[in-house]
Amino acid sequence: MVSETRQERIIRKATFTALVTPADELPELLFETPEEAAGSISAMMQGFWKYVDSCVEREVGQGKQTCVKGCSHCCSQPIFMDVFEAVACLHCMDTEQVTTAFAEGFPAWHTNFTPQQPLLWKALQEDRWDELGELTKKLTAPCPFLHDNECSCYEARPMVCRTWISTKFRFWCRLNPSSIKYSLQCQDAVHDAYNRVLLHIADSFEIPLAAGGWTTLPLAYNSVEGCAVELLKHAISKHITYSR
Ligand code: SF4
Ligand code: SF4
Repeated sequence: MVSETRQERIIRKATFTALVTPADELPELLFETPEEAAGSISAMMQGFWKYVDSCVEREVGQGKQTCVKGCSHCCSQPIFMDVFEAVACLHCMDTEQVTTAFAEGFPAWHTNFTPQQPLLWKALQEDRWDELGELTKKLTAPCPFLHDNECSCYEARPMVCRTWISTKFRFWCRLNPSSIKYSLQCQDAVHDAYNRVLLHIADSFEIPLAAGGWTTLPLAYNSVEGCAVELLKHAISKHITYSR
């Protein structure tokens, strides 16, 4: 993780506190430049990720989760990373490492994902979970952030990866990753917190919700042309407008 500014540290900590104590307000996102804007989003997302990790740890118990960095049997299925999580990922990780992994992994992922994208998105929007389950079985290309079987953005991985966990032997995940997932009781609380954070960021940057908070990165990838690294950057810049 790259080092953070004093302002980012304040936002990260205040976000975590506000999510643990819902009566508290989320911190104001102050920024003068695009770099500061990305830093604010990143800090808020890091506060949120810490909240997610703490919910999971509290429920599952320390040491009971068998997931670790380097275990990746569950990384070859559709992964939804919100565009704000992508901003945070690029801002707080070593960008070169992440974009290199992404550039290498993107073509296979793109080939596999593109034909299914319209159906997948429709099923998601209409809450047709059985259909979604069938569709996802066809999406087996490795996540574009996976590099040499290791997550290139593990500390900044998205919420879906933080809540997709197992308490059983990793061997079982290798046999059938989707059947081994532990269903978390804190899922609703985590999703409420997620929506709260996304709304707050969208409000702060005056982004219409349809264009920002609920736009998943896989969909954003497909809306621009270009090589993988540029695509990732364009996908982000397309959806974030620095309006102040
Ligand atoms: S869910 Fe299974 S495959 Fe995924 S990280 Fe955890 S133990 Fe590994
Ligand atoms: S972001 Fe990382 S942990 Fe999540 S699916 Fe991709 S490689 Fe796996």
